[in-house]
Amino acid sequence: MVEGLKIDPDRFLKTFDLFSSIGWDSEKGMQRLSLDENDVRARRLLVEMLGSLGASIKYDEAGNIIAEIGEGRDTIAIGSHLDAVPGGGKYDGALGVVAGLEVLRIVRESGIRLKHKLALIDFTNEEGSRWTPSLMGSGLSTGVYDPGYIYSRKDRDGVSFGEALERSGFKGERTNNLANNPPKYYLELHIEQGPELDTEGIKIGIPMGIVAITVWEASFKGESNHAGTTPMSVRRDALAGFAKFAIGVREHALKNQGLIRITIGKINIHPGVHNVVPGFASFTVEARSPDPKAIERAEKLLKIIGETIAEEEGLEFEIKRSFTLDRTYFNEEVVSTIETVCRDLGLSYKRMWSWAGHDAQNMARISKTGMIFVPSVGGKSHSKDEYTKDEDLVNGLKVLLGTVIRLDRM
Ligand SMILES: [Zn+2]
Repeated sequence: MVEGLKIDPDRFLKTFDLFSSIGWDSEKGMQRLSLDENDVRARRLLVEMLGSLGASIKYDEAGNIIAEIGEGRDTIAIGSHLDAVPGGGKYDGALGVVAGLEVLRIVRESGIRLKHKLALIDFTNEEGSRWTPSLMGSGLSTGVYDPGYIYSRKDRDGVSFGEALERSGFKGERTNNLANNPPKYYLELHIEQGPELDTEGIKIGIPMGIVAITVWEASFKGESNHAGTTPMSVRRDALAGFAKFAIGVREHALKNQGLIRITIGKINIHPGVHNVVPGFASFTVEARSPDPKAIERAEKLLKIIGETIAEEEGLEFEIKRSFTLDRTYFNEEVVSTIETVCRDLGLSYKRMWSWAGHDAQNMARISKTGMIFVPSVGGKSHSKDEYTKDEDLVNGLKVLLGTVIRLDRM
C-alpha cells in the first residue's frame, strides 16, 4: 500500500518480464535498438496497454509516445525509454516505462481523482546507439535540437532518423512537442547503473542532478621512422608519449575519485603498422564531475601533463575542447518529496549524483524534475548481466507512486 493505493507486485513484474522478452537473447543480451523491429513491437505493446486503460495517446515530432489520463490544468509526467544499447540488459530504461505504466494503471483502477493529469512518456532513441546524439527524443521535444538536424542523422546502414520514424508509424506533430506543453513535474525511475547503492546496502538513490561532461580532442605529434634502423634513444614516438599521458591522467583521477572521472576511450595511431615508429597519436579525453571547477582544474592539469611529456619525448602536444555539457540540477521540491516518501515507506536512501546522462536532464529544462535510482547488482549496466532484484524493482515502483501522489497533493 502506498498512500492508500494498492500495488500488485506480481502484475508489475509480469508486465516487466513481458517487455523484457521483446528482443532478449540470452547469449547476446538485449537486441532492441531505437525504432528497430523489436523496439517497434515493444512500443506497440505499450500503446495497446495504455489504450486499454483509456489513456489519450499522442506522438510528437520525435516519435516520443505521450499518454495521458485524468484531468487538471497541470501534468505530472513519468518517463524513460524502451530502446537499449546493442547487447544491453533488460532494466535500463524499460524499468522506468513499465513502472510508469503501472502507476497509471493503479491510479486508474483506484478511481481516485488527482488534481493533475498523469502522463507516461516513452522517449525515442535515448541511448544514441542507432543514431547520435543520445537523448535524441527528449532533446528534440524540449527544443535542444532542431528537427532538420535530427531527421538527417544516419545510422550505420545509412537510414536516416526521419525515414525510420516515418516508417515506424510513430511520427507525430510538432504541436505535441513537450516544449509546447511542458509538464509541471517530470519523474524518472531508473536503475543506478553504478555500484554505490549495491555496495552500501542502500535501497533508493535520489540524484541531486547529473554531472557535467567535457570532452577534449588531443594529440601527440612526433616523427614516423623505421622500426629497425632508428635507435631507441633518438625516437620521437607519439605512442610512447600517449602511454605516459594515459597513466598520468589516470593517477590524477584515482586520487580524486569522488570528484572526477576521466576516460580516454578512443585513440588513433599513425601510420599504425608494426614496422614504423608511430609519428602521430590522436585521442579523446572525457571528464565527468558534479563540480565544473574540478573539470577546469583537470583541463589545466591535462595541459601540464601533456606539455611535460612532450618536452621529455621530443613531441608536440595539442589539446582542445570538443564538447561541453553543463551540470544539471534537479528540482529541490521534487528531490525532498522523494526523500519524504522513502522515509514514509521505511526505505533507506541517499542523495547522490547521476554520472550517466538521462532524458531527465532535458526535461529539467522545462519541468520540475527528479529521478529515483534503484540498486544495480555489482554496478553492471549496458551489459546483458545488468540485474536489479525484484524486491528493488517493486521498491522503485512504490517510491514513484508515492512521489506522484505527494506532488499531486502539494
Ligand atoms: Zn537509460
